[in-house]
Amino acid sequence: MPSIHGAARGRTPRRSGGEAAREALLAAARALDAAGFMPGRSGNLSLRTARGFLITPSGLPYADTAPADLVELAPDGAVLSGHRRPSSEWRLHAAIYAARPEAGAVVHTHSPFATALSCARQGIPPLHYMIALAGGEDIRCSAYATFGTAALAEAAVAALAGRRAALLANHGVVALGATLAGAEALAFEVENLARQYLALRAAGLAPVLLGATEIAEALARFEDYARPG
Ligand code: 13P
Ligand code: ZN
Repeated sequence: MPSIHGAARGRTPRRSGGEAAREALLAAARALDAAGFMPGRSGNLSLRTARGFLITPSGLPYADTAPADLVELAPDGAVLSGHRRPSSEWRLHAAIYAARPEAGAVVHTHSPFATALSCARQGIPPLHYMIALAGGEDIRCSAYATFGTAALAEAAVAALAGRRAALLANHGVVALGATLAGAEALAFEVENLARQYLALRAAGLAPVLLGATEIAEALARFEDYARPG
């Protein structure tokens, strides 16, 4: 798993969409798949490029996906390169890049605990300071919309206001980062928080929630966390 550093800080490189970008996107997809976050070929990833974004193909097992199977799309979804069908969630990715100039990568998963919580249409409260990694004091759950639709893209962008991650109702997770490593690390952290929250609730316990000041202090610490030296 990549470090959390890239999620909290980092540049937003405009990549070429060339071989190195394709390899990086596939490596991240395979790591998320190996963690059980992409059951049944679900989930998708993208990386912003100079011309638009590079995205995983629709419905192709990650183990069978080659760099040439990735598709580069213009911001409006027009195919720039690639012979596969782009992810059915290309509108979700396009809408996030349009709404969030700081986003360099977007990761969508069906990771099990966060997805379970999304089926209750509940977000994650500030039970642990690591929630601040998502940008604030909670991770919201979006309104429900059918997968692959512009309505889902709109609901996700709304749930992401002021945040870098959201749950998608009865569906899964979406996380963005300045870098791919950051978005990937955040997707892992969202699942970790959802697991902790559901474990508490399963034990009949209620978390003592952190307050706005405590979250603000954690956010300030994250700003300094990865600074070299
Ligand atoms: P794709 O295989 O088309 O990317 O769809 C997977 C998914 O998670 C839809 O929400
Ligand atoms: Zn999905």
